[in-house]
Amino acid sequence: KLSIRNLHKHFGDLRILNGVNFDVFPKEVIVVIGPSGSGKSTLLRCINGLETINDGEVYLDNNQKIDYTPSSLQKVRQKIGMVFQSYNLFPHMTVMENLLLAPLKVQKRSKNEVLPRATALLEQVGMLEKAESYPAQLSGGQQQRIAIARSLVMNPEVILFDEVTSALDPERVRDVLDVMKDLAAQGTTMMIVTHEMGFAKEVSDRVIFMDQGLIVEQGSPEEIFNNPKEERTKQFLKNAM
Ligand code: ATP
Ligand code: MG
Repeated sequence: KLSIRNLHKHFGDLRILNGVNFDVFPKEVIVVIGPSGSGKSTLLRCINGLETINDGEVYLDNNQKIDYTPSSLQKVRQKIGMVFQSYNLFPHMTVMENLLLAPLKVQKRSKNEVLPRATALLEQVGMLEKAESYPAQLSGGQQQRIAIARSLVMNPEVILFDEVTSALDPERVRDVLDVMKDLAAQGTTMMIVTHEMGFAKEVSDRVIFMDQGLIVEQGSPEEIFNNPKEERTKQFLKNAM
């Protein structure tokens, strides 16, 4: 279980997260929605250790407090994967080399050990035939599916997705969403920030609505999308759907 407790983040005087609390249970798929600037990306970046936390704690495993000191970050990111809007693949490496890099260099595993898993993941995201291609030879949607496979190869306990389809051509979006839907069905623990409300409805176990650095409301997709209680949620959904 991933537990976020009283998380605060500010940039100078600008208060971005104002005491965020929630849990992500194993195999759960959480979708986070909210207006631009409400702190969704900052929240994911804090959980992944890309931003320092000003106050509050994050717990993982058996309620162990995550240590975000620089020397521990590599370890944190093996357990908490993240996929971004930009795919960030290494351009000078083939698809397979991109997948193998972290397991071999960071986890010090052997190629023989990792290759079957990497191959299976490429197969799963429909990219096995591109294993020897370079990122520049692939479409955005294909690169994003590889970025997802690359985060999975470390066997993280939870994966964070930050608007992973928003830079894609409309006709490429579905392929990536289908991969994520597959992962959800397999019981991958996921926390997804997205503007794709239809997808959020389809895939989530729980929806969190954030505004101004706070969770305003959370509940099942039915509760949030069909019967929101808070005025701010209603307003947001009216404009978003
Ligand atoms: P969007 O839906 O547009 O992606 P978001 O909910 O992800 O929005 P964040 O990216 O978390 O919002 O940003 C929240 C606020 O924090 C914004 O006002 C943003 O300008 C500010 N912010 C984010 N990163 C920094 C930074 N490094 N320095 C200063 N301010 C920042
Ligand atoms: Mg964002």
